[in-house]
Amino acid sequence: MKKVYLQTFGCQMNEADSEEMMLTLAAKGCTQTQKLEEADIVLVNTCTIREHAEHKAISYLGRLAKWKAKKEGRKIIFTGCAAQRLGQKIKKKFPHTDIVNGAKNIDNFSSVIEKADLFEDQNTQPLSAPANSPIALVNIMRGCSCKCSYCIVPYVRGEAYSLDPKNILSQVKVALESGAKEIVLLGQTVNAYNYKGFSFSKLLREICSFDKLLRLRYLSPHPMFINEEFLQTLKDCPKIARHIHLPIQSGSTRILADMKRNYTREELLAKLKALREIGIEISTDIIVGYPKETEEDFKDTLTLCQEAQFSAAYCFKFSPRKGTPAALFKELDQKIVEKRLDILLNEIKQSSKDAYARQIATKQQVLFETPTNGRTSNNFWVRTKEKYPVGAVVDLQIKESKDTILLA
Ligand code: SF4
Repeated sequence: MKKVYLQTFGCQMNEADSEEMMLTLAAKGCTQTQKLEEADIVLVNTCTIREHAEHKAISYLGRLAKWKAKKEGRKIIFTGCAAQRLGQKIKKKFPHTDIVNGAKNIDNFSSVIEKADLFEDQNTQPLSAPANSPIALVNIMRGCSCKCSYCIVPYVRGEAYSLDPKNILSQVKVALESGAKEIVLLGQTVNAYNYKGFSFSKLLREICSFDKLLRLRYLSPHPMFINEEFLQTLKDCPKIARHIHLPIQSGSTRILADMKRNYTREELLAKLKALREIGIEISTDIIVGYPKETEEDFKDTLTLCQEAQFSAAYCFKFSPRKGTPAALFKELDQKIVEKRLDILLNEIKQSSKDAYARQIATKQQVLFETPTNGRTSNNFWVRTKEKYPVGAVVDLQIKESKDTILLA
């Protein structure tokens, strides 16, 4: 029986892809190991959204040459977005790589490994659900058709397509029957999901009808696809988490247009307000120092953040990705970008502190992901002195907040 060591870089989409590939390897008779030294196969699932992420994956692959040389028969599978972007060039540079399989080809992973003849025995066993966890990640669509000017994803993952709801619902059923309490639906623009007229909101309602479901999350929605049907679904279905991670990227209509985000500052503000009125906490992603961003544009982002009161925001300096339209623009002076990033981070620190403070003295339903740490429906981490079994669901009174954690 071959042992597989899994190394995933990047987002939860990648984690879900890794889980799918591990199920395929399990069906080939492989088991997963947490120790690199006892592994026969290393599966490296990569990210290329920022240059830094790609470098990390490639330097990890470089280091695996020593690991492979230590024992005969060891194999390396390099997959995901960086594998898609760099293709067979990887094998030229790192000849110790056995299989390169890009993100667009993850659906064909099974036939790729079969052709590569990784396994002497072809003993197969039925697919089983992933490791015991209260949270199950479920891919509902692949690719992205948005073509935001700065983003490499559509080039490495291809055009968007939605998966059949029948398959999604049966995956959800298996996960819930295996003990999952929370389902996280994944897609690059998850709320653009539409399978032959079967909308994202319909899918949310169907999933909420499972008795065993405690909570439903989704990542990452795009502001453009927030519509009335979705807002009504949030109101009607309390099992849908009272939190949304909604990447806004900028608060300036001019920059949003240049980024090809397909919404204006005013439309964004109206959607954020509608979400807050339903009681949804909002976190976001913001790019600072996009080429052409003026002081005025940056101020628009800052004032939007002041109004939106985000509970958290991941703020990134613009990172040009070769092959995207924005990579051709002249970059801003890095000193200016650093300064803007500092100002924005301070603003977010304050709004996040306020969001945590708002939770004090409230009663929250906490789903424990470790014996002393769990998450609320509105996505705050709660720490307790008392230990609970992983997967326990406990109503707790929030006593205080400390940095980015609530204490109960
Ligand atoms: S919506 Fe834009 S930023 Fe998000 S994955 Fe698609 S192209 Fe990239």
